[in-house]
Amino acid sequence: TRKPLMAANWKMHLSIREAVDFIARLHEVVAGSEDREVLIAPPFTHLWAVREAMGAAGFSLAAQNCHWEEKGAFTGEISLPMLKEVGCGYVILGHSERRHIFGEPDEWVGLKTAAAFAHGVTPILCVGEKLEEREAQKTEEVLLRQLETGLAQAPAEQVASLVIAYEPVWAIGTGKTASPEQAQEAHAFIRGWLARRYQKEIAKNIRILYGGSVKPDNVDALMAQPDIDGALVGGASLDVASFGRIVRFQ
Ligand code: 13P
Repeated sequence: TRKPLMAANWKMHLSIREAVDFIARLHEVVAGSEDREVLIAPPFTHLWAVREAMGAAGFSLAAQNCHWEEKGAFTGEISLPMLKEVGCGYVILGHSERRHIFGEPDEWVGLKTAAAFAHGVTPILCVGEKLEEREAQKTEEVLLRQLETGLAQAPAEQVASLVIAYEPVWAIGTGKTASPEQAQEAHAFIRGWLARRYQKEIAKNIRILYGGSVKPDNVDALMAQPDIDGALVGGASLDVASFGRIVRFQ
């Protein structure tokens, strides 16, 4: 009974006009897919226009990052109240590009996750190992560290709404998808940890998305796995036909 969540992470792509055109076409392309949740995470500058273009359609809106403080002298940062004001129900946190290109430490991800819960914005907490970590059999160790620090201050009574995205770094933007079995193994490990850390019932309701080279031609096999509850799509989410096909996975 976990509603599939099909999410577009546009990263630093598209103009505002392209984004608005995309949403206009998205209405048609995903018509009849009400049994799945469709989420768009555009750049900050596009959030307002995208929200307007979404209109009354039940699409969800996410930011790609946030700061944990409510306000203050933090040049270049965006707060959770600001994201709420613009209509974001979700925020992507700890994306591998934030961690590995911008050096965001695990502790920041923990602060951001706790702040998102405090403001009623649902965190999409991203975790995932690098290639050398997988090759050194360290995948579970990395996932544990990222989960423990990412959720260190998250209130247990709110955690049921959490979304986790498992994104193996070696599969992001590389065209190398984790096999459905590899992804399932990591997802089952994450859900097992959630059940031990919280409760089995809570773990059963948390959606775990897979991210990393999800395409129209591999989404069906990924979504057929029991613990894969959705996708966080980068490159293939920039084209409305291809993202539409991903939303309409079979
Ligand atoms: P790609 O789909 O381009 O591999 O990106 C995945 C990702 O990072 C989504 O957050």
